[in-house]
Amino acid sequence: MNAPWWSSLVRWLERPPARPPFDDLQPTVEWQVAGRCNYDCTYCIQSPARRVGAPEEGTARAIVAGLAALPGVWEIKMSGGEPFAFAGFSRWIIPDLIEKTSHNISFLTNFSAPLHILERVCELTGERLRITSASLHLEHTDPSAFLEKAAAYREARARHNPRSSFVVNAVLVPGRLEALGPVKEAVEAAGFCFFPQWMKVGAGLYPYSARELAQIRALTGDARDPAEVNRAPSYQGVWCEAGAWYFVVDQRGDAWSCRTAKRNAEPGDPAHLGNLADGTFRRRLQGAPCPFDICPCTVPANRGVIRHGGRFDEL
Ligand code: SF4
Ligand code: SF4
Repeated sequence: MNAPWWSSLVRWLERPPARPPFDDLQPTVEWQVAGRCNYDCTYCIQSPARRVGAPEEGTARAIVAGLAALPGVWEIKMSGGEPFAFAGFSRWIIPDLIEKTSHNISFLTNFSAPLHILERVCELTGERLRITSASLHLEHTDPSAFLEKAAAYREARARHNPRSSFVVNAVLVPGRLEALGPVKEAVEAAGFCFFPQWMKVGAGLYPYSARELAQIRALTGDARDPAEVNRAPSYQGVWCEAGAWYFVVDQRGDAWSCRTAKRNAEPGDPAHLGNLADGTFRRRLQGAPCPFDICPCTVPANRGVIRHGGRFDEL
């Protein structure tokens, strides 16, 4: 049976808006490009069983086509697993994104990719590279070698992406807090921004001891601003445009309104926004009060997606 004549009119009237409702809101997608990672950090929030897989080329190209249909210029934050652990990432996903969309690109990476690959990505992305968030994992990485590569990468960015920025993430791992002090000093002495992240376990935060909390305070100065530290706070009840102007996509193209929504999703959950690769993706018409008791990623707060009308460090 044919759909009634008015159904296309209803769909048109219910289409998501073409412009964000706030001038300071940067529309953002986190694309978890590939599940696999070349590291196996003991504190990884993703279980080894889930940290697998990479997209078929056809799926990735269909996701890019879905992203190209978003209105305006979005920031596509590419993460994983480890995006660079999948060869297709730099070979055809980034070139496809650059060619077929007008969006900007950021990376969340463990920064283990060889320098020549990182330099090639600088060339490919040019003015559209925004933020490289490089996670320093002491279980796998020598900080001196990491900073040497970061300095060479800075030279490449100065040539190709002078408006881009670079930040060094470090998880506040119990037992390594003391070691992080000199690392922070070395990172800052090299001219880079150091971004500490409270450790997550399961659905919540690691229960640090009083001594560990004192060590964290010594390291972070008790910062609470999501531009300075990721404390994975609760924004429960605060208006959030996730699902409308921010969403998360996995390697199969499935989209969720945010990371926590994805983690908690049940089959048929409305936080599932459909699939970008098969054409069923639909953004929400608008945001809603946050229903969750943890917001594990600072991207929504730092892009103006979470709206609470005050200072985040007062929450
Ligand atoms: S590098 Fe990141 S994704 Fe890979 S194992 Fe470590 S924490 Fe997990
Ligand atoms: S505040 Fe964070 S956890 Fe809550 S809905 Fe928004 S993005 Fe998700």
